[in-house]
Parts: sequence; structure tokens; C-alpha cells
Amino acid sequence: MESLEDEDRKIDYLKGGVEMILVLMGPPGCGKGTQAKKLEAKLGIPQLSTGDMLRIAVKNGTEVGRKAKKYMEEGQLVPDEIIIDVMRERLVQKDCNKGFILDGFPRTVPQGEALNKLLDEVGKKITDVINIDVADQEVIERISGRRQCVKCGATYHIVFSPSKGDHCDKCDGDVVQRGDDKEETVKERLSVYRKQTAPLIFFYRELGLLKEIEGIGDIEEIFSRICSLIKKDECCGKAS
Ligand code: AMP
Repeated sequence: MESLEDEDRKIDYLKGGVEMILVLMGPPGCGKGTQAKKLEAKLGIPQLSTGDMLRIAVKNGTEVGRKAKKYMEEGQLVPDEIIIDVMRERLVQKDCNKGFILDGFPRTVPQGEALNKLLDEVGKKITDVINIDVADQEVIERISGRRQCVKCGATYHIVFSPSKGDHCDKCDGDVVQRGDDKEETVKERLSVYRKQTAPLIFFYRELGLLKEIEGIGDIEEIFSRICSLIKKDECCGKAS
């Protein structure tokens, strides 16, 4: 076990300019968004969630949002070329220059290939791909209980972390179930995941980048599993 001091040294190391590019993978509802946010806070590099970016685009009625809306509502993937264009612009923004955490991208093998190409063009490389594994039945229970504030985006769960009433504890906005979190749509999203996204597990295993963890347990426990996996890497080795 490494100490908290080791962890702090790692964070200092990142602050000193070392780049870390993490890809978080796993079925919808495996907790990658929650873990990505915790990694963002710890490592000081941004979480890039394509799902969040698309939801904002839909809300703002942008061209990307108009194109993405129907796919999202049906639990289907938005076409690769749309997502790749969004990411091509996002990855070169200034806040990404010390690295970033990808949450929900890539989601198909062509997206994985496009990401490698985009990174190659700017002389960067993926540090780790972390696959969080959770069984389908558990995913269905977790997602169908999920609720979100329409105003500030805060997330709740009717069993694990309920809001105090029908309104958001933070901003008093309405707390509702996302259309694509309804049970039928979740089942469709899972089937899309198994068919279109799971092949990326083999893609990254072949590239020697894949690390796998069990996604069952409490949030902190899973977070420390992730940290111990990425800690073994060159990031911490070089820092010591
Ligand atoms: P998420 O919040 O990551 O579960 O994403 C919500 C929805 O956004 C997905 O069900 C897809 O319709 C769409 N989406 C998000 N990321 C991608 C991606 N990388 N490729 C295609 N569609 C995506």
C-alpha cells in the first residue's frame, strides 16, 4: 500500500506539468462519471464527458445538439463523425494541456482509432484505460433509480443518495428522471454497449493499455482501486 504522501507527491508531479491521459470505460451506470469527477478533483485535470457535452448541446439547441437528440432519446450512439468532431475541438483546448480524463469516449472501435490518430497528431499518448465492470442487472437497478436536477445537473439516487424532497438540495431546481434512464431505454443502452463499445476492451488490451476493476462496492472503495492502478505507472515511479 502506498501512503497518502505518495499520493500527494503524484498530484504535485502532475501540477509540475506531467501529462496524464486516462480513459474510463464500462457499461452505462458503472459509476465512471462519479469516478471521473473524483479523479478530476484529485489530479487537477479535466473530466471530459461526451454525454454531458451532448446534453448541453441539446439544451442549447446547437447544430450538434439537434443532430444528437434523437439518438440519445432512443439510447443509441450518436454517429462517430459527430462525436469525433466534438472531441477534435475539445482536446486541443488549453485546460487539456496537462492531460484529461475521458468519460464516455471512445465508445466504438472507430472512435478509439480516431482518438489515437488525434493524439498522435499532437504528440500525446493514452496513459491508462480503466474498465469498470458491472453486471447488467445491477446497472438496470442503479440507473432506473437515478435522478437529476434540471437546473444545476446535480445527481441523486432514490435509494443510495436521495434528494430531501422533489427539489434539488443545492439550487431548488426540479429533480427528474432523465428520459434515457427509463428502464426500457437502459436495456437498449446496455445492448448497444455490449455490441458496439465492449469490443474496445479487446482493442485496448491488444495495445497493452487496459486495466480492469470490479465496479461493485462503495464509491471510495472503487476510487482507491482506481488510484492504486494508476499509481503503479510511470507517473508515480518518476515522481519518487
Ligand atoms: P452518457 O451520459 O455517457 O451515458 O451518454 C448519454 C448518451 O449520449 C449516450 O447514450 C449516447 O446517445 C450519447 N453519447 C455519449 N457519448 C457518446 C459517444 N462517445 N459516442 C456516441 N454517442 C455518445
